[in-house]
Parts: sequence; C-alpha cells; structure tokens
Amino acid sequence: MSRFFDNNIEFLKGVGPLKAEILNKELGIFTFGDLLEHYPFRYEDRTAFLTVADLSSETQVAQIKGKLRSKETLGEGSKKRIKAVFTDNTGMVELLFFQSLSYFDKYLSVGGNYIIYGKPQPFGGTYSFTHPEIELYTPEKDQNGFFQPIYSLTEKLRKKFIDSKAFSLWFSHLLPAAYVHFNENLPVYILEKYRLISKPKAFEYLHLPKSFDEIIQAQRRLKFEELFYNQLKLLSLNLLRKHQYAGQIFNKTGLLTEFYKNHIPFDLTQAQKRVVHQIFEDLKSGKQMNRLIQGDVGSGKTIVAFISMLIGIDGGSQCVFMAPTEILAQQHYAGLLKFSEKIGVTISLLTGSTKKKEREPIHQNLKSGELKILVGTHAVLEDIVQFSNLGLCVIDEQHRFGVAQRAKLWAKNPRIPPHIMVMTATPIPRTLAMTLYGDLDVSEIDELPPGRKPIITKHKFDSNRLIVFQFIRDELALGRQVYIVYPLIEESEKSDLKDLTDGYFSITRAFPEYAVAILHGKMKPAEKEMAMKQFKTGIAKILVATTVIEVGVDVPNASIMVIENAERFGLSQLHQLRGRVGRGAEQSYCILMTTFKLSKDSQVRMETMVRTQNGFEISKVDLELRGPGDMAGTAQSGIVDLKIANLAKDEGILKVARENAIFILENDGDFVLPEHTCIKYHLSTIKNKDKSWSRIS
Ligand code: ADP
Ligand code: MG
Repeated sequence: MSRFFDNNIEFLKGVGPLKAEILNKELGIFTFGDLLEHYPFRYEDRTAFLTVADLSSETQVAQIKGKLRSKETLGEGSKKRIKAVFTDNTGMVELLFFQSLSYFDKYLSVGGNYIIYGKPQPFGGTYSFTHPEIELYTPEKDQNGFFQPIYSLTEKLRKKFIDSKAFSLWFSHLLPAAYVHFNENLPVYILEKYRLISKPKAFEYLHLPKSFDEIIQAQRRLKFEELFYNQLKLLSLNLLRKHQYAGQIFNKTGLLTEFYKNHIPFDLTQAQKRVVHQIFEDLKSGKQMNRLIQGDVGSGKTIVAFISMLIGIDGGSQCVFMAPTEILAQQHYAGLLKFSEKIGVTISLLTGSTKKKEREPIHQNLKSGELKILVGTHAVLEDIVQFSNLGLCVIDEQHRFGVAQRAKLWAKNPRIPPHIMVMTATPIPRTLAMTLYGDLDVSEIDELPPGRKPIITKHKFDSNRLIVFQFIRDELALGRQVYIVYPLIEESEKSDLKDLTDGYFSITRAFPEYAVAILHGKMKPAEKEMAMKQFKTGIAKILVATTVIEVGVDVPNASIMVIENAERFGLSQLHQLRGRVGRGAEQSYCILMTTFKLSKDSQVRMETMVRTQNGFEISKVDLELRGPGDMAGTAQSGIVDLKIANLAKDEGILKVARENAIFILENDGDFVLPEHTCIKYHLSTIKNKDKSWSRIS
C-alpha cells in the first residue's frame, strides 16, 4: 500500500490530537490504513422512514423526520433530564435524554427539523424514545437514504461522542482522498471471472454504502481477498515442504490384495475405499505424505490405517500406530493383532507400563527390521526406540499430538522421513480443516458401515430424574450396561470431584442390586485399569465416570450413556461421549441431563445433539457457536486470524479462493507473469508484518 495509508490518524479532518489519542488507546487505530480496516460488524437500514402513525408495539426501530415542538429540563440531580416533544404530520412522540444534558440542550432547538432513529416505547397512548440518535434534517437526506455501518466502540469513545456516525463522517473525508492510493492486489482476470469489485470500491461500499447490494459486494470482495492470501500462505508452506521432502515409494499391493481377498471380515464402505485410494496415491508419489483422516466415531478408521500399513510393509518398511492413552493402545493392539496374525505380519505393543524384559526384544526387533508394526502410546517416541526403516506413522486421535511430536516421528528415520497419517474422530468442517491444517492434506470418511442403529438421544431436566432411573433399571434388567458421566473440567476442582462421588453414592443407593464402578483422573493407573476391567467384563453394570472415558473405549454391551450437567460440556465432547454407546447389536440411548434454566447456547447444543448424530454437522454448529478460535487444536495454530471472512459461513468463497491460490502456485509460483505482479507486490508490502511470508516469493 502507498505511504498515504501510513499517515497519522491525527491528521484526518475531524480527528485531531485528542481523539487520535483515544483511538490509539481504545482501538489500536494509529494510521489512515488502520481506520480503513476497522470494519463495521453490522449495518442499520436507514433507507426507510416511518411516520409517527406507523408506530406500533411491534416496531423494533424507527427512523422519523419531524419538528421539535418543545423541550424542557425536568428534575434535579441524578433525575435531571430533558423532555422534548417531536412531531410530524401524523402525530407526536416524546424524546428523553438523561445524559450529556448540556450538549443536548444546545443541540436541540425548538422549531428545528430533525431526523430521529431509535426504539419506540409505548407510553401513555403515544410513544417515547430514550436517547434516540438525532441529527439535523436537510432536504437532500430524503434522497440519500443509506445504511449506517455500526462499528465496535468502547465506553470511553462514546463519552467523547465518537460513535458510528463519527466514523462515517471520517470515512466521508478519507475515502475520496484515498481512492487513487489503493493498489489492486488481486489479478484482473480473477476480478473479472468472479465479478469482484475493485479494492477502492470495496472500501467505499463497506464504509459508505448506499444500498444493501453494495454491502454484499464489498464483503464478498474483501472476504475473497482475505481468504485468497490466507490460502496462498498456507499452501505455499505446504508446497515448500513437499518439494523439500522426498518420501519412500510404496507401490506394491500384494499383501493388501491378499488381506482384502481372504481375510477382511466385511466389505469396505465407499468412503473407506476412496480414502485408501487417496493414501495409496500419496504413498507411491515419491513425496512425503502428511494426511489428516477425518471420520466420525465408528466410521472405521482403524481398518483404513491397517491397510495403509500393509502397503508400507510391502514396500519394505516398518510402521507405527500411536494412540493417546494406554487403554486405547491396548484395545488397538488386540484388534490389529487378529488381522496381523492372519497374514503373518509381526506386531508388538509398547506403552509406559511395558515391562523392561518385554521391552528389550521389542527394541531389538525394531532395529533389526524383524518387527513390522509397533502399536503404542507416547512411549514409542522415546529416543531408545530405533527402527531399521520406519516408513509410515499412524497417529490416532490427532488433537492430542502436536507438531513437535510429529517432528519427533520424522526424525525416527534419518534417511528419509516416514509418511504420516493422523486420524481424528472429532471431525471439523472441511473449511476449517483446510485452513487450520493447510500443511496437511485432508481425507474424510463420511459414511458409517451399514447396519448401525441410530442412537436415540433425549434431553431431560434434572426434575425428571426418577423417570430416567426407572428407564435405566429396565435396561439393566435386560442385561445392558450403563455409563453415567460427570463433568470434570479441571481434574483438581474439588467441587466436581464431590459431584462425582455424591453421584456415585446416590447411584449405589438407587441400584443396590448392581455393582457400580467409579473412574476418574485422580485415581492411580492400576485402580483405573481395575475399574475399566470390571466394567468391560460385565462384573460392574454401571460405570460412574468423568470424561476420562471420552476417547475410544469400547464396551459393546453398554447401551445407555447418561451425561450429567450436560450443559457444562462442549458439543464435540458430548458427541465423543455418545460415541461410547451404539457399538453393539442393541438399541442404544444417550440421555442428556441438565438444569431447567439453560443459556441460549446450551439450548442449541442440546437441540443439536438430539437432532443429529453426524459429527460433521455437529462440529459445524460448534464452529458457529464458538468461533474457530476455540475449536479443538486450533489454539496453538494461530492461523485463523480473519478480520472479515467467517469460516463457518464462507465455505463457498474459501473454496474458490483456494482453487485459485493452488492454480497460481502451481503455474506461476514466483509470480513472474505480468498478471501476477500485483500479488508479488502485495506480498512484499506485508512481508515485514508477517514473518512466515518471508519463506516464499
Ligand atoms: P473409528 O473410526 O471410530 O476408529 P473403528 O475403526 O474402531 O472406528 O471401527 C468401528 C467398528 O466398525 C469396528 O468394530 C470395525 O471392525 C467395524 N467396521 C469398520 N469398517 C467396517 C465396514 N466397512 N463394515 C462393517 N464394519 C466395519
Ligand atoms: Mg478409532
């Protein structure tokens, strides 16, 4: 951008040093450019005028032209106020002002023509407006109906009469002067193809819109620009890596075919086949794979991982399968062992509690290359664990593994980094995945194996507890098992632990004829294992637990999941918990218990859970409720810092922006074509602000 935008805000007409200081402090606005990027967050429609006669108790806001008939100052001290009578041809209303009385006393002159805007309150047969927006009426304002942008403000700004109108006034000075200084940073062919307006027009329409259509056009253009550069950045990092890191070529399918023809106990779903195909393409490409596999609970990610490992083993390498917890690692090992035995592939389990005696042969067999698959926890990352040729790493439940751990796995093969696939059962919307994990390719298993019975989900208030208990009793009598989960945000929170133990005692009292196990994070590993074992083997019929059971635990006979204080859980957590049931042949249920008084967001969460079981859909709602900043795993990424685009809503624009960014990077990655010099120039101007850009162009 030109120097013009670096001008100190103080020098904009109407600002001056005092207001400039407040703008600096309150909003971080220092320059003309900063002001331009203070985007409105909504608009008020000021194109339409109402008359006093139009007002009804339904009217939310009204804009009225009229005359000030009278004004008087009433009351004393804190009750002091100005009451004015405002009329048009159809009737009269009352205006009330409680603050800044000396200002309004000066501003309001009896007999003057004004436009007021505000919310009418029914009052003694007529309407009153408390602190309406008020401005002098001039005849040209009849034609110039407009949309008032609303800017985020602070109390300090308001006190100095810096409101949205003040911003509009400043923009009316700034934008005409700025017009020639904008540098278009999108190629002309893109502007034409997607009918995007120019950059100066976009700022004009955004800050000084005359119609709703102008607002939409401005937003579309600026969102596109933002997402385009966001994707360009992420993708260029990705391409950079692909160019740098070669990968082992695995192109043999002998083992896989044998397994598929003779041993696989079911047919793969279309989605599983598609993802296996995508992985195979990566593995034989000669470039190192970094792929995220998103798939709902129960979508069958494990078998996809196993098949991928067979391809890796066929190519002469070894594979690692990492799980986030000991319980899960054991479960996976037991499952994968059955498959491996069938086709003579060696497999071992390595966790923190693996005995020293068992460790040594594992270490040796990994080094010699004899051991092909290692299943384990973080223990596999230890330096002592060395491979002959590590070719593929599968990481289950991605959000518990950071980039640093991925890097550790890379280092396990100093010759050529292994391929990496991370799997998550907390799917996030594709838009977000593409943006967050720009450094990962994304695959989705968006289909469940056939024959799954949907889980019946009900939302019940605490007052219905007796009915819920009766229901549980009936199911227990049929031989089923039940989870009862309590929130435990911080494992150290004493009151939560008390809730849990209170719950445990009330359950043991309510169901004296059944054994009840308890499981929480404060217990010793051996105690936890004991509790899990009791529940798995069916000795205990009820498991009272905190969210430690969240991930992956598999007890097919458990058919009821009761979640206490469900309002305290996030959507993805609720979804994960529900995924613990519905694994066997029986009809399963999830019961969400909450207090009667719920916040709006909690209500939406409960309704969403009752309505759908689709993890992608649920995470979309989650994204809308919480914004991307809070989504699983995004905290550390720091990538999603968008000013105008909204990942929950702008999927369409993101797709197109991404396609174009890919096309350009693939065909003119150095931006040397004349039509791309605008990109090169733009990058050079923002490079200083953003270090990660310096790696490209
Ligand atoms: P997740 O994606 O949650 O890790 P799993 O891989 O544990 O799911 O699979 C859940 C269950 O579904 C397992 O018992 C698995 O054997 C079974 N399964 C996986 N794929 C299929 C399929 N195509 N048809 C039938 N059952 C399948
Ligand atoms: Mg799994």
